[in-house]
Amino acid sequence: MSNRCNLIRDILPLYVEGMVSTDTREFVREHLKHCEECRAELEHMQKPADPIPDADIVPLKRIKKELFVKRLQTVFFTAILACAIVTVAFGILTSPEFFPYSDHLFRVIDGADGSITITFDHKVTGYSCVKEFDNETQTEIYRINAWTTTWDLYSSNRGKQNMIIPSDRENKIQIFYAQNDGSEDVLIYGINENTEENGVTLPRLILMPYFLLAIAALIILAMMRFLLKNKSAFTIWLDRMLLFPISYIAAQLCTKGICFTTYSSQRDFCILILVTILFYFATLTGTSLYKAKIAPSQKKDEKKR
Ligand SMILES: [Zn+2]
Repeated sequence: MSNRCNLIRDILPLYVEGMVSTDTREFVREHLKHCEECRAELEHMQKPADPIPDADIVPLKRIKKELFVKRLQTVFFTAILACAIVTVAFGILTSPEFFPYSDHLFRVIDGADGSITITFDHKVTGYSCVKEFDNETQTEIYRINAWTTTWDLYSSNRGKQNMIIPSDRENKIQIFYAQNDGSEDVLIYGINENTEENGVTLPRLILMPYFLLAIAALIILAMMRFLLKNKSAFTIWLDRMLLFPISYIAAQLCTKGICFTTYSSQRDFCILILVTILFYFATLTGTSLYKAKIAPSQKKDEKKR
């Protein structure tokens, strides 16, 4: 290190603070251009000054980010809750109301090619058909039903519904109309050779086991939550898991009430699961927003203690 370098090092603190004359500043600058060691020294001296503005920026950035996340959560919460309400309303409005059997409900016409056409009355907006095969009597058995929905009553007419049952004329055909109200199915085509009754199409109790499962899960998780209440690592996850059976139970009550039987099990179950998922994410974001809201006041309480 040269003498000049020593001199420069003595001046550098003042130079950094900008407390040197123009000539001195020029002198230092000129030296720094050519001396790598002094340049490094200058950089070293300037560094400690940096964290001071940073210290202010970092919390500000964090607050901005937190605010952004909170706003995003609020938008997400509102959107998903709106989706859930729309889905529940859609489920209720489009739930099929089955028609009981009557002479005017449909006409059964034999086609020239052996097929059978069932033409429903204009008030019927939907139908479904279940096919079975009786090996003993070599008979194809069809059980059909017809319905309309609240939605269809107020929306435009869908026109006449036609249903065609193809036949190769090898098997006998029986068609029953399932009334779906607990009363006996009505034979509308073919001959019932069995002296037995026509049978009753029963609703499926598919929703009950899932509901009981949700209640069991809720009780078990609530008990675990109580026992592990001091272990925050577990309670965070338990709280999240608890929301799922709660969402399922809420979805069941919103879409089907306390009715656990269904004649359209696939449809009802799909809507139920969709509403459950929407409720789950809505409650998840909702609780996170709620916690963020009460967290600052809790912190204040802790400080007081
Ligand atoms: Zn130097």
